[in-house]
Amino acid sequence: EAGEADGVGEVRWLRVNTLKWTVEAAVEWFEEQRWELYENVESMIEAAKEKSKVYALDAHIEPLLALPSTVSLPSLQPFTDGRLIAQDKASCMPAWVLLSEVLAEEYAEQERLANSGKSESFAEADARQERRKKNGVKVLDATAAPGNKTTMAAAMSGEMGKVVAIERDAGRFKVLKSMCQKAGATNVTPMNTDFLSIDPQDIKFKNISHFLVDPSCSGSGIPSRLDHLIPEAPEEEQAQRIRALSNFQVTILSHAMRFTGARRVVYSTCSIWAQEDEGVVMRILAKKEFQEKGWTLAPRDEVLPTWERRGIVEECGGDATIADSLVRCLPEDQSNGFFVACFVRGEPASGDDS
Ligand code: SAM
Repeated sequence: EAGEADGVGEVRWLRVNTLKWTVEAAVEWFEEQRWELYENVESMIEAAKEKSKVYALDAHIEPLLALPSTVSLPSLQPFTDGRLIAQDKASCMPAWVLLSEVLAEEYAEQERLANSGKSESFAEADARQERRKKNGVKVLDATAAPGNKTTMAAAMSGEMGKVVAIERDAGRFKVLKSMCQKAGATNVTPMNTDFLSIDPQDIKFKNISHFLVDPSCSGSGIPSRLDHLIPEAPEEEQAQRIRALSNFQVTILSHAMRFTGARRVVYSTCSIWAQEDEGVVMRILAKKEFQEKGWTLAPRDEVLPTWERRGIVEECGGDATIADSLVRCLPEDQSNGFFVACFVRGEPASGDDS
């Protein structure tokens, strides 16, 4: 079972936990503590050669801060009280890709609210109240512990958003619950069960539209892991292990895509092996069952469009559009090796809600 390191190379990534804090308040706090804000991560890394109290805001993930990797986390009060969460940049991508649109709608609504007032008619005020009630999406995290992506989804799912967090392993489930508690993620319902044992037709889950699938993987993207020794393992043994993992990944991702209400499903791994990454995506896209239900990949402009490292074209059957809609990360991007894909399903034709 792979764990996730929360920083590699020169950067320690810290996510502002927007359930407890805001990016603006964080910037104010750092300023008060005499930390210097740099324009971008590269200039912060350069400055860190001379100074220690420097940081930058990330260019891709809004609530993410980059600090020098030498920083002592226990010395940061907002880290110890859960306002900041140590989470690798790549590990923040799945929830961001799944929910940044929801967040943008939430901001727009807040702006409308701020601008509303005397000029608003009763009908407009009623419409606004209705929107507020509906605001927020229902998310299911299929493989949740220790809870990094769960708590980020909880923070991004909107005012009325809810997250069901599933974890099969009892020990890891305890860690998940305590992480949710520390993060103040009161809108999370944790469940200690096997995701595959849940019936996708179960009406209890029918309103869940957004899914995170971040299953067990080889962890080959995590530099500190012994998996780096894998290439030295007997070839057949290694091939068998990766084959078994990718079969499991296809099974669990397929299961999520069969849920009645599923409209957006983000798949991620901390593996760099194509068999667990593009390979899984291609096997899903080839399934008639999903083609018939209108599942496709979300296009690049919905999946971190300004992130340059995309899927490997040759591993996507030579299809550059498919590769372009996928995201890869490597340690040279100041993150773990990582992979993200986002599947979307259009509205079903009337009468078809299966
Ligand atoms: N998403 C987590 C995070 O960001 O903190 C990391 C998830 S970790 C890569 C995969 C997790 O899936 C493990 O905790 C594992 O026990 C759990 N898992 C594996 N198979 C499962 C299943 N069938 N149902 C529920 N959880 C499962």
